[in-house]
Amino acid sequence: MLWQSTNKQIEPVTLSQAIQSGLASDGGLFMPTEIPRSQLTDDLPYPEFVVQCLMPYFQDDLLADFLPEICHTAFNFPLPLHHINDHTTLLELFHGPTLAFKDFGARFLAECMQHIPATGKQQLIIVATSGDTGSAVASAFYQKPNTQVVVLYPQGQITARQEAQITCWGDNILALAVEGSFDDCQQMAKSAFQDNDITSQWQLSSANSINAGRLLPQVVYYAYATVQLARNDIVLPTIIVPSGNLGNVTAAHLAKHMGFAIGDIVAVTNANQALTDFCQTGEFKARPSIPTLANAMDVGNPSNFARLQALYPAFADFTQHVPAVSVDDQQIEAAITDCYQRFNTVLCPHTATAWHAAQQLTDDKHHLIAATAHPCKFETIVEPLLDVQIPLPEIMQTLLAKPTQLAIIPATLEAVKSHLR
Ligand SMILES: *Cc1c(COP(=O)(O)O)cnc(C)c1O
Repeated sequence: MLWQSTNKQIEPVTLSQAIQSGLASDGGLFMPTEIPRSQLTDDLPYPEFVVQCLMPYFQDDLLADFLPEICHTAFNFPLPLHHINDHTTLLELFHGPTLAFKDFGARFLAECMQHIPATGKQQLIIVATSGDTGSAVASAFYQKPNTQVVVLYPQGQITARQEAQITCWGDNILALAVEGSFDDCQQMAKSAFQDNDITSQWQLSSANSINAGRLLPQVVYYAYATVQLARNDIVLPTIIVPSGNLGNVTAAHLAKHMGFAIGDIVAVTNANQALTDFCQTGEFKARPSIPTLANAMDVGNPSNFARLQALYPAFADFTQHVPAVSVDDQQIEAAITDCYQRFNTVLCPHTATAWHAAQQLTDDKHHLIAATAHPCKFETIVEPLLDVQIPLPEIMQTLLAKPTQLAIIPATLEAVKSHLR
């Protein structure tokens, strides 16, 4: 199967080429040229299911032979469905090593990259993060041979535990706290691709959510969850996805196009409203990101918008298939309190946006809420609000006990380069 840029200015490429380059050379994002129909049922154990679900996308690619190995290594943590009541289920995506759903994408991408033949240059991955991507990528690529990782995050704008999860690695992971915003970090990561010093010395790759290698593994958990729900006679659930860069919600749409029994898919954003504004006006405008309680969703210019648009090019289709809701900080706090008081379940601020949106829906469908992070990563928000202490999973205790290493740098690519030397 070949992959086509959303800008359609270049010839389609293989999956491993798409993974290697991240962004297409015409500035577009890679999408599969066709979406395979799946016939998978519930008799396959996870992660056999994972392999079968993804195999069509790997057809004719050099990675196909390695797919079982890649999946077994990447999907090595549980994927629980937490039934809240008769019409609500949480899809708990936060049981990986850094306790957020980005572990799925980062681990899968890291395993894929290990099997793509080296070019002679050392691999360099520069990732900008507003919180969870950095830790997931650092953990996934830690001590991978021939690979250097640079994580750029906005100084003072992520939680202490998020920061600890980025800075606790050392070895091939360089953690840089940038005196600037997330948008500055993203700009620096992008400009590295135009920098001769860097590209002549390194094989530069991107691990952010534009990479096809991060998108694919996210398709699987929606597929798997709907098959599990169908077992209990729950069909065509409405899926509700806390969204920032729109990668996770795009994956849900791919699962639906593959034929899995999915009803509506609601994209929920925080106060960053590029998507909801587009749905109202038909005009897409990137804007500076606004800091919110759900910081991993603080995205003013969601990059996977181009993929959603490739799926639904006509505006009327888009608004019909991509219902979008924006939730503010006050509503996030109210949702965390509501879910705790009624169901004794603690949500992270991101999942809380979806919880709020679900309460507003008037459909009679089952609600499958993507629970994107463990609440203990956001204890400074959640604990005072609920007056509870969230027990730390062992994985988190281990990470927090490690010494941390970081450097504070100005928001320039030069500063990154001097730390690489
Ligand atoms: C990254 C992230 C999101 C947003 O996901 P996108 O794929 O960027 O839309 C939501 N919640 C959490 C906890 C995240 O880390």
